[in-house]
Amino acid sequence: MTTKSDLELLREAINNCKRVAVVSHRSPDGDNLGSLLAMGLSLEKMGKDVVYVKADIIPDDYLFLPGIERLETRNDSIDEFDVLMVLDSSDEDRLGENQFLLKKSKLIVNIDHHVSNTKFGDINIVLPDLSSTGEILFNILGELEMPIDSEIASLIYVAISTDTGRFTYQGVTGMTHETVAKLYDYGIDSYSINTNLYQRRSLARTKLFIKAISQMEFYNNNEIGIVKISKKMIDETKTSMDDTEGIVEFIRDTESVEAACLLKEVDNSIVKISLRTKNKVDANKVCSAFNGGGHNRASGATVEDSLDNVEKRLITEINKYL
Ligand code: 5GP
Ligand code: MN
Repeated sequence: MTTKSDLELLREAINNCKRVAVVSHRSPDGDNLGSLLAMGLSLEKMGKDVVYVKADIIPDDYLFLPGIERLETRNDSIDEFDVLMVLDSSDEDRLGENQFLLKKSKLIVNIDHHVSNTKFGDINIVLPDLSSTGEILFNILGELEMPIDSEIASLIYVAISTDTGRFTYQGVTGMTHETVAKLYDYGIDSYSINTNLYQRRSLARTKLFIKAISQMEFYNNNEIGIVKISKKMIDETKTSMDDTEGIVEFIRDTESVEAACLLKEVDNSIVKISLRTKNKVDANKVCSAFNGGGHNRASGATVEDSLDNVEKRLITEINKYL
């Protein structure tokens, strides 16, 4: 699955370390949280001293994850670590305020599947062909003979399921399903996990969804679909920006749409782009033009400009591919 030396270096690093920090990225998702908690819990079972640091608030959707209460906010006063584990993060920027941890650790391990990964670690296990960081991690735990129990297996299931759109995206292979099949051997309860993940949407969030979708706009022969979420809309529906999950996928699922865009006004003149594409548009390249990145079919960026300006600039960028 990867070059032997990466794995051997990781094996040595894990065997020799005492204090490890695992860190989440900004706007953490299921793959990020599932993978980092799985890695952390496995290291704990090996007797390592593990500190879990969050770079952002954890969306309610993931509060049921085993070990989630371990994630804490830290500041500069934190002491040194032997190893910093960064999972599912394409570059150092993704760590937001927690970038200082990169300097607090003797060794940085970067495990990821983003095509835009900058290989910022001392050890980089970056496999863009795999569906999710969770899938990579399961292979690593197996190859390094690290402990796996039902909680760790459940976390990996969450990571893979959420990052593959419930096993529907392009990165899903027979290997992905084989990995998931093996997770059942550790006693996961997939029905309970799926109910927690996908059947607990708040009523306020459903109302935000209705409002947002009713304002969807189409451009370029209906090949571009856009929804803009203003701070006002969030206030009016008593929701938060995290409650926008699922909207961009709904736009994408329109037959004519090649590029689905969700623009969120996260602060005054700060807009978060979420982009999902089908065959014609390379989402990673489009978002790279805005200093973001991700995957060919799913990418993001944060831009300092008004909602309307970002919309215009994004349409211009996408139009280069249509
Ligand atoms: P989402 O639209 O769900 O926030 O993100 C989609 C994908 O793009 C994820 O894989 C995420 O890691 C990546 N992504 C989102 N925002 C950014 C960003 O600001 N910079 C980079 N490099 N990647 C991002
Ligand atoms: Mn991922």
